[in-house]
Amino acid sequence: MRVPVLTYHGVNVAGDAYVGNDHVALAVDLRLISDAGLRIVPLSWVVQQLLGLAARDLDHCVALTCDDGSDYDYFDLDYPPHGRQRSFFNTLLDFRRERGFAAQPDLHLTSFVIASPAARREMDQRCLFGRDALRSNWWRSAQTSGLMSIENHSWDHNHPELSGNGPYGMPRGSFLDVNNHARADAEITAAARYIDGVIAPQRCSLFCYPFSHVSDYLRSDYLPNHQAEHGMLAAFGDGATPITFDSDRWNLPRYICGYHWKSPDELNDLLHAGT
Ligand SMILES: [Zn+2]
Repeated sequence: MRVPVLTYHGVNVAGDAYVGNDHVALAVDLRLISDAGLRIVPLSWVVQQLLGLAARDLDHCVALTCDDGSDYDYFDLDYPPHGRQRSFFNTLLDFRRERGFAAQPDLHLTSFVIASPAARREMDQRCLFGRDALRSNWWRSAQTSGLMSIENHSWDHNHPELSGNGPYGMPRGSFLDVNNHARADAEITAAARYIDGVIAPQRCSLFCYPFSHVSDYLRSDYLPNHQAEHGMLAAFGDGATPITFDSDRWNLPRYICGYHWKSPDELNDLLHAGT
C-alpha cells in the first residue's frame, strides 16, 4: 500500500488561478488523477487497510481530504473580492456529471471540521467575513450524500484569533500545548462527541492535528492509550509521503495543496512518486 492523501482548504482563495485557489485546484486535480489512471477512495478505507480491518485492493489509489470545515466545503459562496466559489462538494458532483459514475466509483472527500459552535462563530468574525460561513448545518447532508465524511479537527483548533485562553489555561495559537489529559479530552474527545451528535447515527473516527502540530503527548500517549474515551482510529499530520504499512497510525502523512504542490505538474510528479 502506497496511498498519497491530498489536502485542500476551502478558505484558500486568493484569486481564480490554480495556485492560490483550492477550489480551482481540486477541479483540475480530479481530472488529472483520473487521467493518470488512479482511483480515488475514501480515507477510511486507507485506515482500515492499515489497521488490518479490511483487505481491499488499494493499488494506484489516492485519498482526498479538506480541513477546517468552512461552508465553502459544501455550499457555493462568494469569497470577497474573488467572487463565487464552487464548493468542494459541488466540484465532486460536476466531475461525476462530466465523466460519469464509472470514472471514479468510490469518489470521496473527508472533511475535518472544527466542533465548537462558539469558536466557529468567533473565527468567522475574525478570520473570514462575518457571514456565518463556519456552520454545522451541512455536515449531516454531506455525510449522508456518500461523497463526503465529516471527521474531527479538534474542538476549537486552539486558534490564535480566539479570545481568552484555551481549555485548562492553554495559551492560544499552538496545538503543541495540548500536552495533558484534560486538555486532550477537551480538544479531541469533546469534539468527537459534539460531531457525533450532529452526524448521528454516523460517528467520526479520524483526527487531524490543527496546524499539523503533532504534540508528542497526543501521538505517543493520549491517542494510543485512551481510545475507549476518544474513539479515534488514526490521526493525520502533513508528512508529505504516501501512507504505507510502515506509517505511524497516530501521525499519518498528507500532502497540502499550495504547500507540497503548487501546479498540476507538481501534483503529477508527486502522484507518480507515490504509487
Ligand atoms: Zn486546520
